[in-house]
Amino acid sequence: MPNLAGKVALVTGGSRGIGAGIARRLATDGADVAVTYVHNSGLAQTVVKDIETLARRGKAIRADAADATAVTAAVEATVEAFGRIDILINNAGFMEVQPGPFEDQSLELIDRTMEVNIRAAILAARAAVRHMAPGSRIINIGSCLAERVPGPGITLYAMSKAALVGFTKGLARDLGPRGVTVNQINPGPIDTDMNPADGPGSEFQTALTAVGHYGSPMDIAAMASFLAGDDAGFITGATMSVDGGTNI
Ligand code: NDP
Repeated sequence: MPNLAGKVALVTGGSRGIGAGIARRLATDGADVAVTYVHNSGLAQTVVKDIETLARRGKAIRADAADATAVTAAVEATVEAFGRIDILINNAGFMEVQPGPFEDQSLELIDRTMEVNIRAAILAARAAVRHMAPGSRIINIGSCLAERVPGPGITLYAMSKAALVGFTKGLARDLGPRGVTVNQINPGPIDTDMNPADGPGSEFQTALTAVGHYGSPMDIAAMASFLAGDDAGFITGATMSVDGGTNI
């Protein structure tokens, strides 16, 4: 189990699902953890309480990933509260399937996909790097759909997660000399509000896995914790599939 004692982490979109799982796991491994949310203040506070029950410090910050100022402010609020930032998990994201032909995709959805799924990760990293010491970590949450797309209607989402791969690889080169690693986790189907294991399309997604079932947020959290720890210091610019062998 990685020892993250003395480290400070910020997990974007940490009120529910994968982000909440990562926040709890990082705290279990010893880190103080701030989480952002956009709607669910109560759930974010529950995650903070869980972190505090583990005798770590926690903080919930309302920051819509679509709001550039709020994203940067969330990083600064983390540093102000805890004095440093060592681990940034860019997890906040959304997927909206727009029915109908591609030419009917709305400009609003195109812009929001760019802002929330891509730009926010860039802005958070830009703000965090200013405070990061050697040994720090940036971990982007992508998707197996960054590499393989099993059907129509998810073009924008797949594009956004593929863009994060390029961002991860480039930033790893920029920050390698400074001792900061940058990696991406590409989850397969994970049982969350976004993609419930009993939701529409779940049978199809389950059939694409080798293991025959959905993963849980803790499966992604385990990889995030490993990448955040000292043992992962020689891993950077990498894309780690945690997808139950999803084969599209
Ligand atoms: P959920 O929808 O279950 O949770 C989303 C989390 O992100 C919530 O904490 C939510 O906050 C927050 N969030 C959503 N939009 C914004 C925003 N605009 N600004 C700030 N926070 C926001 O999603 P998952 O946990 O399933 O997904 C997390 C990440 O994992 C996403 O990037 C997703 O693309 C990726 N992923 C998920 C997979 C899956 O099968 N579940 C598979 C592959 C990748 P609030 O509670 O306030 O709404």
